[in-house]
Amino acid sequence: MVYIQNTKEMLIKARKEGYAVPAFNIHNLETIQTVVEAAVELKSPVILAATPGTMNYAGRSYIQAIAEIAAKENDIPIALHLDHHETLESIEASLQLGTKSVMIDGSHHTFEENIDITKQVVNEARKFGATVEAELGKLVGQEDDLIVEAKDAAYTDPDTVVEFVERTNVDSLAVAIGTGHGVYETEPNLDFERLKKISSLIDIPIVLHGASGISEADVRKCIELGCAKVNVSTELKIPFSNTLRDYLIEHPEETDPRKYMNPAKAKMKETVKEKILICKSNGKA
Ligand SMILES: [Zn+2]
Repeated sequence: MVYIQNTKEMLIKARKEGYAVPAFNIHNLETIQTVVEAAVELKSPVILAATPGTMNYAGRSYIQAIAEIAAKENDIPIALHLDHHETLESIEASLQLGTKSVMIDGSHHTFEENIDITKQVVNEARKFGATVEAELGKLVGQEDDLIVEAKDAAYTDPDTVVEFVERTNVDSLAVAIGTGHGVYETEPNLDFERLKKISSLIDIPIVLHGASGISEADVRKCIELGCAKVNVSTELKIPFSNTLRDYLIEHPEETDPRKYMNPAKAKMKETVKEKILICKSNGKA
């Protein structure tokens, strides 16, 4: 019995009802527990996002198994989603294990190559009842080992989205409208007009990457304009790490992970809850 879901219904419902399902990057047992506990308490559907780096670190099967248990034991919609995977091989490996939601990031390829690889992934995913997110345009910053310099970043061209969605048959689309991965050095300027245009052209859920550090008002505006999935990674890592560091400095005698992990989890959980409230997905489970 598979309990983890694909992201089709949860995102279509979100776009229709004007909220977003948050996708939180998780890395291990502790971060999955933290995200799921917060989502359960606020009755929010939730997406657990795992990059290739996370799979390398924790092991694909471990992440899959922990997510399955989380979905089985809690009465909210939970999806495990592959974030920024770039090859059919790595996606295939997770589909075989039961992952139902994947992102193929072909944004660093040419338009035609992006369509090509996305189509291949969509065809494969359909065999497993899985949904696919693609990316058009290129976000600045670093996600895992993939670094995009500011000069190479590219906003999504609205004139290409209809053709891309029709030819790939993809379920959701990540767009570049001025957000970036990692920590912002200056307040980003989001191109809402561009998002509005894209949103008027396609009715599939739109995905906002790089939402860490974006103001509540701006995230809300993106949701109003059709973003039904909001990705948060960096903003969870910071409270977890800072709290853990402070705790260990204050308690140099502490050697028990069952003790020193807890304050870090609690702090991270506060941020998860804040993000759920910004996405307005609370009560939507
Ligand atoms: Zn991203």
